[in-house]
Amino acid sequence: MVVVANRLPFDLEVQPDGSTKARQAPGGLVTALEPILSRRHGAWIGWPGTPDVTLDPTTADGLTLHPLTLSSDEIDQYYEGFSNATLWPLYHDAVADSEYHRVWWDSYRKVNERFARRAAEVAAPGATVWVHDYQLQLVPEMLRKLRPDVRIGFFLHIPFPPSELFSRLPWRKQIMRGLLGSDLIGFQLPGGSRNFVRLARTLLGLATSGGSVEYEGRTVRVGAFPISIDSGGQSSLAATPEVHEAAKQLRSDLGNPSKIILGVDRLDYTKGIDIRLRAFGELLAEGDPAARDAVMIQVATPSRERLQSYITMREGIERQVGAMNGDFGRIGHPAVHYLHQSFPREQLAAFYVAADVMAVTPLRDGMNLVAKEYVACRVDGGGVLLLSEFTGAAQELRSSLLVNPYDTDGVKEGLRTALTMPAVEARRRMRILRRQVLTHDVDRWAADFLSNLEGVRDRVAEAR
Ligand code: UDP
Repeated sequence: MVVVANRLPFDLEVQPDGSTKARQAPGGLVTALEPILSRRHGAWIGWPGTPDVTLDPTTADGLTLHPLTLSSDEIDQYYEGFSNATLWPLYHDAVADSEYHRVWWDSYRKVNERFARRAAEVAAPGATVWVHDYQLQLVPEMLRKLRPDVRIGFFLHIPFPPSELFSRLPWRKQIMRGLLGSDLIGFQLPGGSRNFVRLARTLLGLATSGGSVEYEGRTVRVGAFPISIDSGGQSSLAATPEVHEAAKQLRSDLGNPSKIILGVDRLDYTKGIDIRLRAFGELLAEGDPAARDAVMIQVATPSRERLQSYITMREGIERQVGAMNGDFGRIGHPAVHYLHQSFPREQLAAFYVAADVMAVTPLRDGMNLVAKEYVACRVDGGGVLLLSEFTGAAQELRSSLLVNPYDTDGVKEGLRTALTMPAVEARRRMRILRRQVLTHDVDRWAADFLSNLEGVRDRVAEAR
């Protein structure tokens, strides 16, 4: 089996002496896929995270890593340009304006071609190739032309937009055809899957049924496979004495506030960080008794820092935090602790364990793993999850406090309800949430996708 993704499962750091050091990238996907790939002596093709660096393939735990070199221009045009300034905003319901540039598209096509060629070289006869995410939507079609013998699965980690939005893309047909090179196309939610099937019918005039598209004499299966986390691992981590102690220390460092509200996000305009800050700020301005003794921690992981839309958004959020602390902070007790940093999972687990309220308010999010991590970490059965209706996670986590992030009063009311929720009610909700997250982990997600993909393979083999 071969995994093809924009990034390799490790970050590469170039040392001052010019040597390179590999560091295992965190994240549920890597944790889940690594054992499956190792068992199958699989391969992973991806960019090692630094431009213009050429590295030889390496082997780790029976898994072969194939670093693909990307130039600085390709990072500008294929990655930051077409992937993150054209597709990312468009696929997230156009919450920011998308830019359309032909040179970006050309670069996207060329880089996809290179990923496809590398996959064609690496895959054994009849192998399964699993392509990931919006950066590589042309790879399935390109790979099929090069290697008709391999089975191709594609999974989109972000939302797939409704046809009214997708149709704005000047290269909409090319992207649809690119994806249709797959045997199985997976989306996070049934809505994404429906959007895709509808577009196949209306844009390309193809015959479709609920879960499949007829394309060039093949049946392409389409379905929803909501991704998850390493729930067991996360839960065990949260139960360790070290994490328990770190959470206690955190609360004490904060001056033992009555409530801790937590936000953990990449600093991205889709995440609705400004919305939760505004809601908390308004509660403070009104002198709400529940908010008065509460404190907010906002972890905002640096992300896409060269893109203007991200620079502008960061400035806006930092102004907002500054104004709130100016208005409502006291010496040694700011209202908001803003951390523009990336934390290791042990530290994040301590934040989750300490937080009375987890505020997740994206305008749109494919899934939102942070919401699931919070639930998995609440081994004590406490804590309240405030969750945007427009996250993929909201479809599964129905016992959270669901809010519409566009409705400031609604978010404010949700936050007030979360801060004042009786412990019995909070525990009742958390019990239901934990059952869902612990029984639907990322292993189950991967197994479900792969058994569907390989089911397709078996049916094809039988038909031959
Ligand atoms: N994360 C992390 N360190 C941080 C903040 C976040 O490792 O300081 C991880 C977090 O645990 C989660 C992932 O980054 O697994 C974020 O995934 P999510 O689906 O919430 O959002 P995305 O960034 O993929 O849009």
